[in-house]
Order: sequence, then structure tokens, then C-alpha cells
Amino acid sequence: VFIAFEGGEGAGKSTQVARLETWLAGRGVRVRTTREPGATGLGGTLRSIVLDPATTGLSARAEALLYAADRAQHVHEVVRPALVDGQVVVTDRYVDSSLAYQGAGRAFDLAEIRALSRWATEGLLPDLTVLLDLPPELGLARARGRATADRLEAESVQFHERVRGTFQALAAAEPDRYLVLDATGAPDALAAAVADRVAALPGV
Ligand code: C5P
Repeated sequence: VFIAFEGGEGAGKSTQVARLETWLAGRGVRVRTTREPGATGLGGTLRSIVLDPATTGLSARAEALLYAADRAQHVHEVVRPALVDGQVVVTDRYVDSSLAYQGAGRAFDLAEIRALSRWATEGLLPDLTVLLDLPPELGLARARGRATADRLEAESVQFHERVRGTFQALAAAEPDRYLVLDATGAPDALAAAVADRVAALPGV
């Protein structure tokens, strides 16, 4: 079983991934949590390139390819082996983040970014995607409160609005495969809603 969390900056994905891990482990489920970018050795190097505010002049196409390379290595080294081993895999970001940031954010054709991700992952998609939806102003304010800034925080609110709209449209197109939650809600309530939905997945 493969579950992805998606959402903009400061939506609380990492908190909810950790909450779900605890809940699953408490039910005796073997669970592997992971994230993009940066879950592998190669990914860590790529993450520092794409997120370092000191990286300048990175072309939008090169950026999209670096994220795709991170994802290819992630699926090859972490996600597929854990799935084959029968673990529930929970990732903080996956293909939808590329459609939203590298696609809509950078104004590339979504179909091209989708094809790139499909190639990188050999078509592996999550059984469930949880979208933590939040107005960008709120999320950016939360994210800017963190110790380390990343390159994307410098993008305009319009950029982050396109990102949010893309996440919402992807979820609306496949309601059975998505759980959309209002990320302004209390962490406990969000975690309970996620657990309810995950409990209904075959194989959990
Ligand atoms: O989720 P996390 O905060 O670790 O993401 C790090 C940064 O990477 C965020 O600023 C996010 O916008 C960016 N990102 C991106 N494209 C992706 C995945 C993440 O621009 N496909």
C-alpha cells in the first residue's frame, strides 16, 4: 500500500506523516515513511541543489529533470523495495508536487511533466493521496517561521496560488483516490480523518 501526502509550504505534511506512521505502527502495520526530494544519497545532493537559495540561474527544465532524477532514485531505492517487502509506504510529496511546482508553477504543460514523472517512476502511483489544502499566505507565513529558508519561498504568492489550484484540480479529477483536508484544522482532527480513510484501504 502506497500513500502520498501533498500540499503547499507549511501545510503540516511532515506532522501528519509522523502521526500516520505512529497510528499504523500501533496497529501492528510495518510502515516506511519517506519524502521527496532527498530520501536517498543522490536525492540529498539533488535536494541541496534545488532548494539552496544560493543556487542561481537554474533553468526551469533543468530543475524539472533534477526533481525527476530524485524521484526515479527514490522509487528504485526506497519505495518499490519497501512495497515488495509488504510495507505500507508513506511519502511526504510525490508526482503531484512536480505537476504543481514544475508544471503549473513554472508554466510547463502538465502532460509533459506527467510523462516525465511516469517515465521516472515506471508508472507507480499512490493508492491514496492526502492533500493538505491551505491558502498560500498562511502556509508561507508558517514556513517562513522555520530556521532554514528554501528557494521556493521566494516565489510570488501567484506562483503558490497556481500550485494550490493544481493540487485541488488533480484531487477533483480523481475523488476516489484522494482525501482533501482543510489544513487549517487542528492536527489531532486531521490525523483522525487520515486514519479513518487509511483504515478503509484494502490491505491496511
Ligand atoms: O516539503 P518540503 O518543505 O520538504 O519541500 C521542500 C521544497 O521543495 C518546498 O519549497 C517545495 O515547494 C519544493 N518542491 C518543489 N517541487 C517538488 C517538490 C518540492 O518545488 N516536486
